[in-house]
Amino acid sequence: MFVSDILTQKGGLVHSVTPETSVAEVAQQLSTRRIGSVLVLDDESSVVGIVSERDLVRALASHGAQALTLQARQVMTREVVTCDSDDSIDTIMETMTRGRFRHLPVVRHGELLGLVSIGDVVKARLEEARHETEALKAYIVAG
Ligand code: AMP
Repeated sequence: MFVSDILTQKGGLVHSVTPETSVAEVAQQLSTRRIGSVLVLDDESSVVGIVSERDLVRALASHGAQALTLQARQVMTREVVTCDSDDSIDTIMETMTRGRFRHLPVVRHGELLGLVSIGDVVKARLEEARHETEALKAYIVAG
């Protein structure tokens, strides 16, 4: 199973904010959309960072209530690791485990195609395991 299979199921919608978006607004978007992160895009729609709920927790721990008035650029991670739609699920599981993050933007030939979360990976893995079990059962019954 590949990243492209996940995108076929969930689509390529990526929620994003600008570097100037306030932390309060980011929190609002994460909550309303029930997501764990947003990408930060500049005027040319280039990825300049990612803000996850973990960054908001860090900002709150460091700045208290003032954190809400900070801008996304002040709390985001700038070195965003991405994956390719051709990558296998195993590969991106390794990337997420090694990097200790749960979100991976999908970029192919410089184009942002979507965003895969650890939840999407677990779901894909479960489906794969279910298919394998069904195939084995069918094989045993046929034999
Ligand atoms: P997460 O586990 O995705 O909530 O993120 C944990 C930390 O890793 C946060 O500081 C995020 O900004 C950062 N992070 C999340 N996804 C990525 C990514 N694809 N590349 C680099 N950093 C990331």
